[in-house]
Amino acid sequence: MSGLVFYHRPHNPHPAFEVLKSAIEINGEHRIHREFNEFIVDQYVMADSLTSRVIAIDFDNTITADVDFYLDLIDAYRAHNWEPIICTLRDDLHGNLEEIHDKVHDAGIKVYTTDGKRKRAFMLHEGISVGLWIDDYFPGISQCGTPFLLNNGIDY
Ligand SMILES: [Mg+2]
Repeated sequence: MSGLVFYHRPHNPHPAFEVLKSAIEINGEHRIHREFNEFIVDQYVMADSLTSRVIAIDFDNTITADVDFYLDLIDAYRAHNWEPIICTLRDDLHGNLEEIHDKVHDAGIKVYTTDGKRKRAFMLHEGISVGLWIDDYFPGISQCGTPFLLNNGIDY
């Protein structure tokens, strides 16, 4: 798939967004959209902790929507001392971890499987706050009406 639309509208600018922004500019096929519109947006880029270096990237319909783009993005984040990880609603059974590692050609990237649990609460329970989330499905990160979503312009 090409021509992905990335939504990003945080109350406070997040430094991790700059890496994604330049990756989108270099790639040339995707674009950034500043208005919340579920019918237009493919991927939500949501600011969270301003002190965390962790970039949590979803797998299904996010990385898989343009694997080459995301491989470059993961490299770019590492080059700028961010820590990209994968966070998926999948469970860790049925070869899911192997499938994900194979797809990104990277046995070393940390993969967090929430088994259907909302990702933000799951990760905080693991002791990990996330700086930036990239995901095609924002309700999988946080329930509706939370300050996290409101701070990202999603009044839902
Ligand atoms: Mg997804």
